[in-house]
Amino acid sequence: MVQTTAIVRARSSIHEKYLDATKSDKLPAWWQLLNRCSVRDFLFAYEPIIRLIAFCGVFAALAVLEFALPLRKQAIGRGWRWPNNLGIVFIDTVLVRILFPTTAVGLAFLAEARGFGLFNALSAPPWLSVVASVVVLDLAIYLQHVLFHAVPGLWRLHRMHHSDLEFDVSTGLRFHPIEILLSMLIKLAVIAAIGAPPLAVLIFEVLLNATSIFNHANIRVPGKVDRVLRWFVVTPDMHRVHHSILVRETNSNFGFNLPWWDRLFGTYRAQPTAGHETMTIGVEQFRDPRDLRMDRMLLQPFLGDVGRYPIGQRDADQ
Ligand SMILES: [Zn+2]
Repeated sequence: MVQTTAIVRARSSIHEKYLDATKSDKLPAWWQLLNRCSVRDFLFAYEPIIRLIAFCGVFAALAVLEFALPLRKQAIGRGWRWPNNLGIVFIDTVLVRILFPTTAVGLAFLAEARGFGLFNALSAPPWLSVVASVVVLDLAIYLQHVLFHAVPGLWRLHRMHHSDLEFDVSTGLRFHPIEILLSMLIKLAVIAAIGAPPLAVLIFEVLLNATSIFNHANIRVPGKVDRVLRWFVVTPDMHRVHHSILVRETNSNFGFNLPWWDRLFGTYRAQPTAGHETMTIGVEQFRDPRDLRMDRMLLQPFLGDVGRYPIGQRDADQ
C-alpha cells in the first residue's frame, strides 16, 4: 500500500513536470523532461508499463518470425494451445499482483532505502553492483530450475511447463501458478540477500522474460549463427533439448538466459539424438491433446505418479 501511494506520487510529479515543460517552447517537452527526471524516477513510476511494452514487443516479433521461419511442423496448432497457454499467463500475473505486497523492483527500492543486502552494504561502483546482481540472479534461476527437476514434489509443479506437446513462444510462458508463486518468493529472497539495485532487477526481469520467449521459439536459426550465439545466450536449439521426452535430455540445459551455467556445472547437452525436427516434445505422462486445456493443466501436479524424470531417480537410463 505504502509502495502504491509512493508510485502514484512519483507518477503525478513526473506528469506535473511534463505539463510545466509544455509551457516553455524553447525545447521539446520530452527532452526537458528527460533532463529534469532521472532514469530512477521513470523506473520507479513506470516499471510495470516498461515491462509490459518489452514483453509485448518481443512476443509479437518472435511470433511473426515463427510464422515466417518455422522449424518444426506443428501437429497441434496455435488455435488450441495459445488461448490455454496465454490464459495461464493471465492467472499467474493476477495471482502475483494480488498475493504479493511488492514487485521485485519495489523490494529492491526498499532494500536500497533501508540499506540491507550485500551490495547495499558494500561500497562497490554502481555499474559493478548492477552487472554482478544480474549474473547472480541468473545463477539463482538456473539453480532453482535444477531444484524443480530434482525434487519429486517440485517436478510435479514444473512438469506442467514440460507437458506442452509442441514447443513455441507460448510454451515459454506456461508455468503452473504455484511454481510462479514459489519462484517469486525465491527471487524476492535473493534480491533482499544480495541487495540488488532496482535497475539490475528491472534489467534481469526484462531480459529473462525476453530470453524465455526467444529460447522457446519455433524458429530456424542457421547452424553457424546458433553455434556462435549459444556462447552468449541460451538459443532455441539449445533449450529444445530440455523439452525432449527422453529423461536424459530433459535433465540437461537448465539455463534460461546465460548459457554458461550448464557448461560450468556439467549439465550441457549440445543436440537432441532424434534431431530437432523429429524429436518428441513433452513428458511421458500427458500425451493427450486434451491435456493442453487450461483446467487440466492446473490439475496436472496432482495427477498420476511422478514418473522417471526427477534427477534423484537415476535408474532412468533410456
Ligand atoms: Zn525444465
